[in-house]
Amino acid sequence: MDMPSFTDASRRPDGRPDATYDAIVVGAGFAGLYALHRLRQVGLKARCYEAGEGVGGTWYWNRYPGAACDIESLEYSYSFDEALQQEWKWSTRFARQPEILSYLNHVADRFDLRRDIRFGTRVTTAHFDEARALWQVETDRGERVTARFCVMATGCLSSPKPIEYPGADSFRGRILRTAYWPEAPVDFTGLRVGIVGTGSSGIQCIPLIAEQAQHLTVFQRTPNFSIPAGNRPMDPEYERSVKADYASLRAIERDSDVGICARLLPETKRALDVSPEEREAEYQRRWEAGGLYFYCSYVDLLVDRAANDTITAFAQRKIREKVRDPKVAELLVPKDYPFGAKRLCADTGYYETFNRDNVRLVDIKASPIHEITPTGLRVGDEQIELDVLIFATGFDAMTGALLNIDIRGRGERTFAEHWKQGPRSQLGLMSAGFPNLFITTGPGSPSVLYNMVLGNEYHVDWIMDCIAYLDRHGHATIEATQEAESDWRRTVDEIGRQTLFGAASSWYLGDNVPGKPRVILPYLGGFRAYKRTCDSVAASGYPGFALV
Ligand code: NAP
Repeated sequence: MDMPSFTDASRRPDGRPDATYDAIVVGAGFAGLYALHRLRQVGLKARCYEAGEGVGGTWYWNRYPGAACDIESLEYSYSFDEALQQEWKWSTRFARQPEILSYLNHVADRFDLRRDIRFGTRVTTAHFDEARALWQVETDRGERVTARFCVMATGCLSSPKPIEYPGADSFRGRILRTAYWPEAPVDFTGLRVGIVGTGSSGIQCIPLIAEQAQHLTVFQRTPNFSIPAGNRPMDPEYERSVKADYASLRAIERDSDVGICARLLPETKRALDVSPEEREAEYQRRWEAGGLYFYCSYVDLLVDRAANDTITAFAQRKIREKVRDPKVAELLVPKDYPFGAKRLCADTGYYETFNRDNVRLVDIKASPIHEITPTGLRVGDEQIELDVLIFATGFDAMTGALLNIDIRGRGERTFAEHWKQGPRSQLGLMSAGFPNLFITTGPGSPSVLYNMVLGNEYHVDWIMDCIAYLDRHGHATIEATQEAESDWRRTVDEIGRQTLFGAASSWYLGDNVPGKPRVILPYLGGFRAYKRTCDSVAASGYPGFALV
């Protein structure tokens, strides 16, 4: 293992301080693998660190039953290599986690990426050495390396929230977390299972666990909207038609706001400009099509409350139609926030699960969880006996993974201090005082509201162009300016205020993490506008960035 001291200041022929690597990539998910590939392609010496024992990032850790993507796999896949996208065959419309993980393993092998990845290794610190304009990176395995660039491909939903109730250590049964699911299959046969959390993860695994367990208790804090996933075996004719002209599909995705609806393009109409009958038919058509297309029925659903009321009412009615017990149905129907303002979920038989005799729904807003006891949960004035307790309680989204690393930039300023009041960046890509440290699909970019694979490809390509520009023009470093950061924060906030996102309590605003500043995290102006801005910044010599 090469472990040079940080004081090794030999210089390269081009006059730059020598570093162990040109670039360090943190994370080997979709973003990190592509970043490593591109860096190596241009001849840079790169090293990727990955906390997991294998590639995959979010798809490595989240192995819970039912874990699947809710974007079509022909779209939620790399576009950078035509041969790759032609040769890979998805078995279903929406791939399940094991298949996505196989795909990412295939990519790692196909592009021979593993030799430059250190698995089971977490980056703990990254300190900027101003004199040498290098990042000093340390890992939890004691490795210490330097690099000119850091690409933080740390993911948006990769820092799971801790268990927020006392008593976990006393529990005599088994505690599981969807975000750290064990590799060996878990058998729930004959067991009394409890699950806390009804977001996308909970909604995907609840129907499958209910089928196996003796009894399942679902502890719900806030009901979510979920639409039928409509998953099915891949239609060979559809696959053939996409592959016959993949480039056209990718072009549509890249020129769209969400990057996921290439086949059923988002409507250009406004919901209230059409008759109630036409609206109903459109919602029904998209509901039956399955997947997140439903979300894109009309252009104004997330900006106009009256428009949103129409889709909210439709989705509420669908829940009531599915759940036999009206009291249970009313608990499952979200009533106090607009449809889509919390992340929309996609399910296979979620609401129908509550018609089973072995499933109970507990409203923990009305009867809060007090503590975990040796034999279960104390909820309201009741003790609920459990053999297995599952937490599907979500993530410190978008900022958690970055802030968990001790990052220090110019003047020893910590990243945590810099982002104390919420993330600050130029275009979501770089922060002031943290030169040559790039973030992929981070806060301030469309991020989780665009197809994440394509969003990551776009960011990595932008970073690679930026690095090439620095070298062409003889610059050692690039970083955001304070002024541009403040302007971008204002832009992101201003666009956010024009939407309905603020009307819900959600991880998009950090509401799910106690003490986290309430700031709109993703850029809500759509990918098309965002890309235009980033492209034009790159084309005009990086205004808003300081190049030294
Ligand atoms: P999540 O959406 O944040 O849901 C967490 C759930 O746990 C919510 O119901 C939340 O209630 C509840 N919760 C949180 N803290 C709690 C506490 N202390 N006590 C009781 N309940 C608590 O997390 P997730 O389901 O893991 O999903 C996160 C994101 O990952 C999704 O939004 C999606 O973007 C992505 N994801 C995607 C897929 C897919 O592609 N199909 C699958 C899984 C995840 P509140 O709402 O009241 O906070």
